Amino acid sequence: MSATPITGTLHRLLGPGEPEVSCEVCFAELDRYVDAEVLGQDADAAVPGMRAHLAGCPACREEHESLEALVTSQ
Ligand SMILES: [Zn+2]
Repeated sequence: MSATPITGTLHRLLGPGEPEVSCEVCFAELDRYVDAEVLGQDADAAVPGMRAHLAGCPACREEHESLEALVTSQ
């Protein structure tokens, strides 16, 4: 039985060469990333690889969403 290649939309969007931070880096930089987003700055440029990680990591995505909700509610 051979492995099924990943053909999902997400994988096509991100491509195989997209850099991605680890959960550790993601957690450390999340404040800065959300700050940049809220200020209308280029969050992808502020923390390269974060967007790709959030797209693929449900735990960090949840963390990102709650932090974003917290920041934007102030
Ligand atoms: Zn993660």
